[in-house]
Amino acid sequence: MTKKILLIAGDGIGPEVVGQAKKIIDFFDKNTDKKFECENALLGGCAYDAVKTPFPSETLELAKKSDAILLGAVGGPKWESLDYSVRPERGLLGIRKELELFANLRPAKVFDALVDSSTLKKEVVENLDIMIVRELTGDLYFGEPRGVETLADGTRRGFNTMTYTSGEVERIAIVAFELAKKRGKKLCSIDKANVIETTEMWREVVSEIGAKKYPDIALSHMYVDNASMQLVRNPKQFDVMLTGNMFGDILSDTASMLTGSLGMLPSASLGAKINGRQHALYEPIHGSAPDIAGKNVANPIATISSLSMMFRYSFDYKKEADAIDKAIENVLNNGHRTADIATSLQNKISCTQMGDEILKEITKIL
Ligand code: NAD
Repeated sequence: MTKKILLIAGDGIGPEVVGQAKKIIDFFDKNTDKKFECENALLGGCAYDAVKTPFPSETLELAKKSDAILLGAVGGPKWESLDYSVRPERGLLGIRKELELFANLRPAKVFDALVDSSTLKKEVVENLDIMIVRELTGDLYFGEPRGVETLADGTRRGFNTMTYTSGEVERIAIVAFELAKKRGKKLCSIDKANVIETTEMWREVVSEIGAKKYPDIALSHMYVDNASMQLVRNPKQFDVMLTGNMFGDILSDTASMLTGSLGMLPSASLGAKINGRQHALYEPIHGSAPDIAGKNVANPIATISSLSMMFRYSFDYKKEADAIDKAIENVLNNGHRTADIATSLQNKISCTQMGDEILKEITKIL
């Protein structure tokens, strides 16, 4: 069956990195029994420039009809002075909300060939392979009431609401437990249950589900401040980490730096099943990198790995996903590096060259 992929290149380096993943999709489409149909849509700053909204309704319609979405990145200084309601990031939050993409999966894996790129000692990060499961549609980012008000004395008060329902906690916990079942059977849930009531409830719900449905998974709980410290002190103690939206935003960026470069890390955002279709959006964790946009120096590996996650989680194309992952590993072992992961002694290759090298390896593996 032909799979419909919606490509949302976005802003900055987005089109450059998504372009490399597209070459791989085209290769599979032409040379294997896996068939794909790709469409393109606007989101973020480029959408605002074209139609004065960062989240055009056509993009939402195409997204709803697709089997999976591959996104580059959105945002950049050009749009920073716009009103908050039409900033590029509103497009991203909008699509997550509309498609109910509540589960964000962020693997942080250290490749052998890049173990020295990390700022941490080799023995701390060697063979690191953790998965952060972040809730994506609740918490302070969406809670109401929110805003900034002017008080009677002329000073201002900003306020946001941290909110979760037990149902929201339950569905994200199940995603994390299921992943832990397929991995190391270890789950650490992160909260601030000593101070914040919402997260006290979070801990209770996760514990109940663990005891009832997943007695074979070793469940632990950790306060977020300790978790941020443990992530840099001894990250290998973790396998799957479960967090809310805000704590996850911060912890997953910390985890990404354990691996050395933002340009290496993919992510998946999975939705609820609606009418038998589970929406899913795959994207690199990095932003639009305006400082290097248009120079053909960006690292496309995070985006290509995101494509591999799409094959694995949305399409169940394990062999093809394994081939992409292996190809990336081989290319790195062969010494090929984009600027962000190269040492001063290594030859740097461009974004397109990295895409070509990975494609060459895929053809050898298949
Ligand atoms: P960023 O991730 O864009 O860049 C941080 C640093 O990492 C920069 O030096 C950049 O050159 C480098 N970098 C990032 N990706 C790289 C890659 N693939 N290859 C090589 N180097 C890479 O973060 P930022 O500078 O804080 O944000 C820039 C813009 O991106 C902002 O407008 C921000 O809002 C937006 N943003 C978007 C997303 C998203 O679309 N999901 C995520 C984060 C930031």
